[in-house]
Amino acid sequence: MYYKQYGNTGLKVSAIGMGTMRYDDEDIKAGRLDKCADVVLYAHEKGINFFDSAPFYCQDKSEEITGMALSQLPRDSYYISSKVNLGTLNNKSTADDFRRRLEKSLERLKVDYLDFYYLWCMLDLEGFKKQYDLLYKHFDQAKKDGLIKHINISSHMQGTDLEKVVDMASFSGMLIGYNALNYRFRQAGIAAAYKKGMGIAVMNPLGGGLIPENPETFSYLTKGTDLTVPQAALRFVASHKEISVALAGCTKKEHVDDAVKAVENLKEQPAAEIYEEYENNGVTLNNLCTGCAYCDSCPQDIDIPKYMDAYNQQILGHDMAGRLRGHWGIPASKAAECINCGQCEELCTQHLPIMDRLAEIAALD
Ligand code: SF4
Ligand code: SF4
Repeated sequence: MYYKQYGNTGLKVSAIGMGTMRYDDEDIKAGRLDKCADVVLYAHEKGINFFDSAPFYCQDKSEEITGMALSQLPRDSYYISSKVNLGTLNNKSTADDFRRRLEKSLERLKVDYLDFYYLWCMLDLEGFKKQYDLLYKHFDQAKKDGLIKHINISSHMQGTDLEKVVDMASFSGMLIGYNALNYRFRQAGIAAAYKKGMGIAVMNPLGGGLIPENPETFSYLTKGTDLTVPQAALRFVASHKEISVALAGCTKKEHVDDAVKAVENLKEQPAAEIYEEYENNGVTLNNLCTGCAYCDSCPQDIDIPKYMDAYNQQILGHDMAGRLRGHWGIPASKAAECINCGQCEELCTQHLPIMDRLAEIAALD
């Protein structure tokens, strides 16, 4: 395993971390939590020391499963994180509410302290400022009380907004979605966080599955390697000098092996060099939907991620109408029911022009 510095914290983390949001659904439903926990133990055996958890992942079983595994390991052999925001506190922001939520995570993860506790899922600056004002003091107190070691932020904001966050607040680390599709969109935030000495963990390195689903388009990532397209996409992220750890969601032990192979003989490079190299070979695709589904609460019941997935196909040179009908089995005409309320665009982690795209789709009929 290749290890990297986590900002200026002095921690050394594995270049691949395990995101614990992809435990096997069937095993969870059948109560085979120990089988899921085996994947964590296997990842640790392979040198992974960074585990990212949160409430609600995997039918709210992620923390419990992860704790089952971690409790079998020496506490100083891994780093574990969890997350909180106003939503997880049912919009209550008292010290007691915060502490209860944190204690629940500690109990489920079977640890006395978290290495990283995140102000979770900040979508825009306004929301961030509100939650920061209400909750940061509680993070600070929990740190003084020894229940958390580092206060971090996880965000889907664009790079220039992330720059402002880095400037105005004091976090040890950041978790962001970053990959070979959206790197231009977030680069300013990465540069600012790195300059400030923050650790940077990356989620969604495969672009919500888009990269593996379009191997031909992304074959340029594998040039000069013996890696598969998904492995090369992971390596793309991990090779950034500025990025401490790339999270891989592992359902099976094979996924761990795949991810570990992606960073064999890793060569770190500054982001600017990587961009230049990739843009000479490939394409910049910041305008693709990653399928994150944050927008999926349309008052008109439009299944936005599916429509945006079809639109992706058009951008990637495939048949949009065919994707809607053949793959998703949904009519283009439903897109015309959009009332332009704008809610989805406010929530979109890629800041896509969803309403314009739906209008274009509606015109197919
Ligand atoms: S803008 Fe249209 S698609 Fe988006 S949430 Fe509103 S009605 Fe739904
Ligand atoms: S449209 Fe935006 S919020 Fe919705 S799934 Fe795609 S990237 Fe995510």
